[in-house]
Amino acid sequence: MRYIFVTGGVMSGLGKGVVSASTGMLLSSAGFNVSMMKIDPYLNVDAGTMNPYRHGEVFVTDDGGETDLDLGTYERFLDKNMGKENNLTTGIVYREVIEKERRGDYLGECVQVIPHVTDNIKEKIRGTAMKSGADFFIVEVGGTVGDIEGLPFLEALRQMKLELGKDAFFVHVAYVPYLETTGESKTKPAQHSVQALREIGIQPDVLIARSPRVIGDEERAKLALFSSLPVERVIRVPDMPSIYQVPLALQSQGYRDIILGQFGLKALGESDLPLKLSLAFTGLQRGPRIGMVGKYVKLRDAYVSIVEALKHAGARLGFEPELVWIDAEEVERGNGLSGFRDLNGVMVLPGFGKRGSEGMIASIAEARKLKLPFLGICFGMQLAVVEFARERLGLRANSTELDPNAPDPVIDLLPEQKNLKNMGGTMRLGGSNIRLVSGTKLFAIYGGRDPRERHRHRYEINPKYWEALQAAGLVFSAFDYEGKRVEAIEDPSLPFFVGTQFHPEFNSRPMRPSPPYLAFLEAAAHHAGALSSESASAFS
Ligand code: GLN
Repeated sequence: MRYIFVTGGVMSGLGKGVVSASTGMLLSSAGFNVSMMKIDPYLNVDAGTMNPYRHGEVFVTDDGGETDLDLGTYERFLDKNMGKENNLTTGIVYREVIEKERRGDYLGECVQVIPHVTDNIKEKIRGTAMKSGADFFIVEVGGTVGDIEGLPFLEALRQMKLELGKDAFFVHVAYVPYLETTGESKTKPAQHSVQALREIGIQPDVLIARSPRVIGDEERAKLALFSSLPVERVIRVPDMPSIYQVPLALQSQGYRDIILGQFGLKALGESDLPLKLSLAFTGLQRGPRIGMVGKYVKLRDAYVSIVEALKHAGARLGFEPELVWIDAEEVERGNGLSGFRDLNGVMVLPGFGKRGSEGMIASIAEARKLKLPFLGICFGMQLAVVEFARERLGLRANSTELDPNAPDPVIDLLPEQKNLKNMGGTMRLGGSNIRLVSGTKLFAIYGGRDPRERHRHRYEINPKYWEALQAAGLVFSAFDYEGKRVEAIEDPSLPFFVGTQFHPEFNSRPMRPSPPYLAFLEAAAHHAGALSSESASAFS
């Protein structure tokens, strides 16, 4: 097993996940089997309990893990599913160490960060790597060098280098800011972060200089000198129009061959995927305007898989969708609906809790009124059902998540979940097979093949209202394999009105867009064309 460890310096949010995932893609397109792990030094056991407003989206793996959003980046770049064990946190490590201590496994020893915690970290990394059967295992350490929480992990990696020798490779990703006032790229913070890493005992093999602009040769030479690296091992990654251009940018600077060379390997095959990918996301037209209605719209990372799914679908159609973020709470306060006339489509995004939910329902009503293509995901689908029940059936409908005493609880916990609730762990998580109903729009969208899609929810369409909803014209276009749960709805009286209880975005890949997203964007593109010609319905 060969390991590549990726650390970050200067600040977070500089695209370390994209660099790590791109490294994976370059190696896998050279014919190697690659797997990855994200280390999150926070104390949470998983990302499930974290506020998306602070931390960004919770990415759901097929095996039901609630993980860091970087795992989504890995899946999209590697075109390969990750699992729970590909996300390691301090919470997982400490829980295990403490459990062992309680069981008496340490035989009276004093339990310490070194060696007990670091041993546990190494076991976890090696165990997951071995299980993956990969040729390369890439481990990205979250946070920034110098963070207190990160220290045990970096110490574990330092020890692994001792044990692995030439089978370990360190990539350090550091930010090189650009000063407008003097017109210079400043290398000092990056130099300091390399120093901090070396104080811990880790010498990077490559330095990735992330910067807003391309840094000059002089700055590159300076970074090389202070990092004790030959200059070709300082790789420049300036901001790019699309993250899908990063693999090619790395490749063209010899990055892949530097890695393979150090491991004494040659590429097993050549694939033009990095080039194809880069081209697919270059020169796109500004596409239809999509209203994105949600509660966490101020932090874009909160919906990163959805945004990427829209981009994948857009690239296939030759455009970059223009996303118009609409704060559901603003709509609730009476603002925000006026702009709907300029939209070509509306998405109501996943979410939890009452705040903003009436704004989402009002947005759905407006989309319906204007016959805008609509895609509701999870909470968005549930609220579309609530809106439909209010409008078409005149019910005092709601979800019991939002109003436990709703006179018409069209969205509710299933009876078996109600029993489970007392024991905790009620969320339905992960992938399952979906049975499409033939003759529906969704059936056509998926080409008639039952998909496997992922879930993260507690509530669903209440079976007591199935009949009434269907009688009023709502079509159930998919069920779970037991036929117990409605997985998707559509309103055939509108040009494009689709909701899914599942999250198709988690399976969208840059070169293989998710079918519902593709169909939605196509409808929105038609709408954009229809707007100029004033012809109301250009849809099939
Ligand atoms: N809050 C809703 C539920 O628990 C929807 C969840 C979601 O949108 N992911 O069912």
